Amino acid sequence: MSFVSEFNSLPGPSLAQKSLAAGAAAVRESLAKPRPSLADFANLISPAAAEFLEHMGRRSHTITQQRFGKVIRLFAPLYLSNECINNCRYCGFSRDNPILRVTLSLDEVKREAKELKSQGFRNLLLVAGEHPKFVSNHYLRECIAALHTDWPGLSLEVGPMETADYAPLVAAGADGLVVYQETYDRKVYADMHTAGPKRNFDWRLETPERACAAGFRRLGISPLYGLADWRFEAISVAAHADYLLRNCWKAQLTISLPRLRPCAGEFQPLTHMSDRDLAQLVCAFRLMFPDVGLVLSTREPAKLRDGLLPLGITMMSAGSHTEPGGYTGAGREKLHQTVRGRIVELGASEWATVGRASSRAESGDREKNSGSSVASPHQNHATAATGQFQIADERSSQEVAELIRRLGYEPVWKDWDAALTA
Ligand code: SF4
Repeated sequence: MSFVSEFNSLPGPSLAQKSLAAGAAAVRESLAKPRPSLADFANLISPAAAEFLEHMGRRSHTITQQRFGKVIRLFAPLYLSNECINNCRYCGFSRDNPILRVTLSLDEVKREAKELKSQGFRNLLLVAGEHPKFVSNHYLRECIAALHTDWPGLSLEVGPMETADYAPLVAAGADGLVVYQETYDRKVYADMHTAGPKRNFDWRLETPERACAAGFRRLGISPLYGLADWRFEAISVAAHADYLLRNCWKAQLTISLPRLRPCAGEFQPLTHMSDRDLAQLVCAFRLMFPDVGLVLSTREPAKLRDGLLPLGITMMSAGSHTEPGGYTGAGREKLHQTVRGRIVELGASEWATVGRASSRAESGDREKNSGSSVASPHQNHATAATGQFQIADERSSQEVAELIRRLGYEPVWKDWDAALTA
């Protein structure tokens, strides 16, 4: 039985309602249990449990140190392509957004990876929009094969595939797959995904199971907070994690905590999740899942990331760019606009005036691609592909590593070696 069947009988909305109505006594009872159930988890994320946040934080901190040690694993996203055939209303790469797009060549991918390696990273997340023409399975396999000798940790965040299509990517050296469900609310999901294969909710929901069957040894899941009620999303992803721990037990599981960020298309979050809610959720996940990795990206601002880190976070990105070529300027000379999935050559239109400013690495410019500026024919100074979203923590990877040390943790750049599988 796949998670879809379990999810269909999950009383998610009623658990979310019970969470809102929970009192202090119910929270105390749930906190006393060594193995909280899903109903206990709903109590732990309740408004009433906010009064227990300090206590939850201390326990979450202790459990995390017992299970993971005093280390924070670092990774970097490397965007291969911002082409996409899906329309997701909250995403800068959405098919109908008139943005500057590019797919990096193999040499450009290697150039980006080399820069990240020089910063110390050994754990890479290859990210791409869903576009079979530009981001084919063959292209992904070539990228993985070219990188895997130098990169002991290679995860993918790309369009969902069949198990048979994942298997060659695992054989080429990819070891992790990250797939956000975006929202577990079927109605909101249908409203948000207006075109493309991503409209199929169930197909996406079963992706981690197909990835596990193909041999990926790390799986990452999450909703994107800001689309539906955050408590419903949290209860749903907790149920999903519980299912994967029971059925895909050979793989390590991570849960990410992404909140919506500004992006091209200027989509505004539909629901609010406060910083305090986020802190409470980190603690609740840790109390429910002592061994699951919790991932915090540069979507959150520096100060908040520093504060959340000791509560239960085990993995962070740092110094991130969300546009292809963001680390070295690779691919800037072949930027183009794609209209409804078809390339419009800049040289054949007023877009030809788009400049080719020097790369961030060349200029020392620390400004990140904003992701919110939709390129227009009136702009003649665009310098990079459009990013997926604005990042909030703009510190360099070295600054983040230094902060981790100052907090008494060890930044871990490499957490796996292929020799360990021999
Ligand atoms: S969220 Fe993913 S699938 Fe949707 S538009 Fe963005 S890159 Fe494409």
